[in-house]
Amino acid sequence: MTSHREFFSNYDEFDTPVEIHGINGNLQAYGYGDVIVKDVRNNQHTLLAIWYTPELDGSILSKYWTKQYGLRTTMDDHENFHFRSADPTSTFHFTATTIDKISVITDLDVIEYNPDSLTVIVPAAMAATAVIGTGTTAAVTKTPKINRSVPSQLMHLRLGHASEKPMRLLGISYKSGKCHPCIMGKQSQKPFPAVIEKSSIKLFRVYSDICPVTPESFGHGLYFIVFVDEATYYTWVYIIPNKSSSTVLEILKLWLPLVERQAGTSLINIRTDGGGEYKGETLHTVTPFLAERGINHEQTSLYSSSSNGVAERMNRTLMNMVRSMILTSGLPAPFWGEALHTAAKIVNRLPTSALLDNISPHQAWFGVIPKISHLRVFGCVCFVKITHPITKVQTRSDRCCFLGYEGTTQYRVYDPTSNKIRSKMRDVTFIEDEFLPRKAFLHVPYADRPLQVPEPRNYSEEDDELDKDELTELFPKINSSAPVPIIPLLP
Ligand SMILES: [Zn+2]
Repeated sequence: MTSHREFFSNYDEFDTPVEIHGINGNLQAYGYGDVIVKDVRNNQHTLLAIWYTPELDGSILSKYWTKQYGLRTTMDDHENFHFRSADPTSTFHFTATTIDKISVITDLDVIEYNPDSLTVIVPAAMAATAVIGTGTTAAVTKTPKINRSVPSQLMHLRLGHASEKPMRLLGISYKSGKCHPCIMGKQSQKPFPAVIEKSSIKLFRVYSDICPVTPESFGHGLYFIVFVDEATYYTWVYIIPNKSSSTVLEILKLWLPLVERQAGTSLINIRTDGGGEYKGETLHTVTPFLAERGINHEQTSLYSSSSNGVAERMNRTLMNMVRSMILTSGLPAPFWGEALHTAAKIVNRLPTSALLDNISPHQAWFGVIPKISHLRVFGCVCFVKITHPITKVQTRSDRCCFLGYEGTTQYRVYDPTSNKIRSKMRDVTFIEDEFLPRKAFLHVPYADRPLQVPEPRNYSEEDDELDKDELTELFPKINSSAPVPIIPLLP
């Protein structure tokens, strides 16, 4: 039995969890698979049918079962166990020594296998009919296809450190709390319960906020604007160099026609927070622009912004993911902009219990299931093949680091040799557990500065991590009976 899901070279989920009595109280096993191990001399052996028990906190071997699956056990004069392969051609051997009356194995390593060599795609079944957005009825499959042979920790990294619940909705059993970047990157957070009369019509209401970030991003950004559609929770982010009224207006002129065309309808309300950055000159420019187009600018007052903090809380969710992604990859802080675009893309693709049938914002907005099989670990080493444009002969591979996606077939990478971001890369090979050394980023401006995001305006110290996904935190269910607390605002 092991609590390490990432140990399995293959894995099958039990239909219902199996109860195991007598160890650490009662445990549950959720599935089983094979684990390949090696001894101190690098001899390999496959331990068959190991059970996955996330609550165990470690691994234990049953002597009876190791015998069933090809290991001979003997005991020496000091009463230490020796395990050898039952295969006479194998010299696989490890020893257990006794510590505190318990046999402990210290010289056995689990072999990391390359998930890309396994391509068993198990299609997620479950076809259902759901009502999406403006009353369109469509036959939908609930979740994106996932490759079940990919270890859950690796999926957690590919999904920008997504929390347990959306991963479970994707059919991935994941136990959080052991991922260091998550522990370090996520602030304690407890969003305020806000009763929202939620519309089910796309673009009936969009929440927006502007958030400052330092240091300057690689593309010279110092702020980002976020837009969140109330009906579908679809989220857009734009990175901007300043928060001047003309810059904000420029983004609105880009974003508005795009979303109205996609939704096939017009924006009705846009809600911004009076305590935020939509104020002063920006407000005087933005409000008339919206009014000319028949869009109502709802500005929550400073003292009621806790009931509006949707965009603000989305900022926090996204920046938590960004922090964890930056920590995992060791990328310098100026790559926060690339990480933020990646985080938004992932949040849009994660299923959420805040939407009917646990679909993703992407599916609610576009009506199609998003692809996630192309997602890779942000910031990992990747090789980009350079093919000679005329002869079509591959001339070399450049060692780069992976920065995000353009559509579902093209990637963005940072090339340390030229100190440039290269976009629309197609032929990319990823090494997901390797990251470029710090010295590769010597030419990145402000690479030595820490990532800083101001404290959220609505902030509580309680912890909330249990059984929530990113979006249910943002959008409490309608008719919630939870009382709305009166929250004193921080200045
Ligand atoms: Zn994590």
